[in-house]
Amino acid sequence: MKLTEMKQILTSGQIQLTKSLGQNFLHDQNQLRRIVAAAELTPADRVLEIGPGLGPLTELLLEKAGSVLAIEKDRRLADFLKKHFATAPNLELRCDDALDYLRREPRDWSDWKLVANLPYSVASPLLVELAGLPGCPSRVVVALQLEVARRLVARADDADYGLLSLLVQLRYEPQGHFKISADCFFPPPDVESACVVLKRREPSLLPDELRPTFTRLVKLSFSQRRKMMMKLLKQDWPADKLGAAFEQLGLSPQIRAEKVSLEQFVQLTKILEAGRKA
Ligand code: SAM
Repeated sequence: MKLTEMKQILTSGQIQLTKSLGQNFLHDQNQLRRIVAAAELTPADRVLEIGPGLGPLTELLLEKAGSVLAIEKDRRLADFLKKHFATAPNLELRCDDALDYLRREPRDWSDWKLVANLPYSVASPLLVELAGLPGCPSRVVVALQLEVARRLVARADDADYGLLSLLVQLRYEPQGHFKISADCFFPPPDVESACVVLKRREPSLLPDELRPTFTRLVKLSFSQRRKMMMKLLKQDWPADKLGAAFEQLGLSPQIRAEKVSLEQFVQLTKILEAGRKA
């Protein structure tokens, strides 16, 4: 779908774009194809697309994947898509808030890939929600704010490392990211954009039942970035257990969360959970 076609659809449908819904449509064919290529789609794949907009990505996904489930919040766009893709039997379209939908209708997404140019304001909660599900998608290829992309791929000690990096990387290995310039979108967004590629870890770093402990651990640890992590964790764990666990991992009692790697948080979860049961 070219920019002229997008503008014509919006004009003829008298659709005024809604900034709060992050309606910046991707019209650059090279970037759209790059996103689809990164998804490594085959006809056996099922794709979840959040925020299809006017469908420029949807039409490429339908060419490569077996089926697409697209969730669009804006009724005007969903109505347009219904007519535009009326003859596409492999597209299921929902007019809904994607975050509400994911929470309301839990399902196993483990055989699915998430491929989308996400609404930027809800990109982080959407990814955290999916990464927290027992059956999370096998691959995630999403365009979002560059700042969020950097947090998603950050490692310990990087400026962007934090809660989002850890909650998502527990389930996904970052495979890289590429920038998308603002003029590839209509209208150009005020912020910089990038596409991130994430691959689900096989096997999982932690069993499902330890994930709540990991989440509590990293949330507490990053609740006050400048504070010593051990002090923050004392709200939930006895000092002697923490002392022994930190020593076992060779972590200084003075260490701050931003210096602790994903692997160390995983080990700490296992040790503290074993200590709780003992
Ligand atoms: N995929 C299209 C493209 O690349 O041109 C549109 C992407 S645009 C960045 C984000 C889209 O998500 C918009 O169509 C917007 O209406 C929709 N949207 C915003 N919030 C949403 C939500 N909570 N659930 C589902 N769709 C949402």
